[in-house]
Amino acid sequence: MSSNLFFPFSYSPWLAKRLPGSLKETSATCQNCAMVKPTGLTRDKGPFKNHLKCCTYFPYVPNFSLGAINEKKVNQSLDRGVLLPVGLFPTAKHQNRVDQLGKKAFGQKEELLCPFFSQQENQCSIWEERPGVCATYFCKSDHAKKGLEFWADVEKYLNHFEWELARAVIFELGMSENEIAYCQGAVSPETEEEERDFFLQAAWGKWLNQKHHFFVETRKVALNFSSTQIEKLLGPDFLSLEKKLLNFFTLA
Ligand code: SF4
Ligand code: SF4
Repeated sequence: MSSNLFFPFSYSPWLAKRLPGSLKETSATCQNCAMVKPTGLTRDKGPFKNHLKCCTYFPYVPNFSLGAINEKKVNQSLDRGVLLPVGLFPTAKHQNRVDQLGKKAFGQKEELLCPFFSQQENQCSIWEERPGVCATYFCKSDHAKKGLEFWADVEKYLNHFEWELARAVIFELGMSENEIAYCQGAVSPETEEEERDFFLQAAWGKWLNQKHHFFVETRKVALNFSSTQIEKLLGPDFLSLEKKLLNFFTLA
């Protein structure tokens, strides 16, 4: 990796003007993964296996990004994932397995490999649409601890942006807080297995058999959001985090 945007490329319509610039990171040598033999200050302890790297993770992918990813590719994630109006989540069963295996399995267990990781190319197959959690993962930083803290703040900002925009677009498409609650019910570890289908159907309503079409619509709706609407979604706390991120270079 060399110069890195502060967001996945596919978020440019909303964030290119808000978070301009890039940060050089040469220590995270992804083609020859730096975590196979970790040295110096690293975000995780490691070591990682070279054919798994930091992609032993099932990320949340927001609805408006799913609308830009090939449907077949999205569906390949469904052995361990579940599609909901707000986006793609790991199933409760998979999440339970992740929790069982614990932190030491990160970078080590093939069964945890992200469904979007191309084993043939040994890299992400949805690079431009990968979510914020992935775009901000640097196992080590050229800027040492300050750099790792900076990326952790960017991750926080992008998580908030993704969730708020994903919610806002489904409201524009006629859904409400009820559907959000049904989405939560579908993946919550507290839900009884026999109730999951109910939550799934209630969350999707009339879109149940047209999920990809729905995601394409969410992207169109999201692209129509003005910068004032995005500012409102971010809210005062995240606008102030945004300022902090933009000040990083003067403080570094
Ligand atoms: S960011 Fe991930 S793939 Fe890149 S060097 Fe670090 S652990 Fe390896
Ligand atoms: S989306 Fe891409 S970068 Fe993120 S975990 Fe999956 S394969 Fe890795």
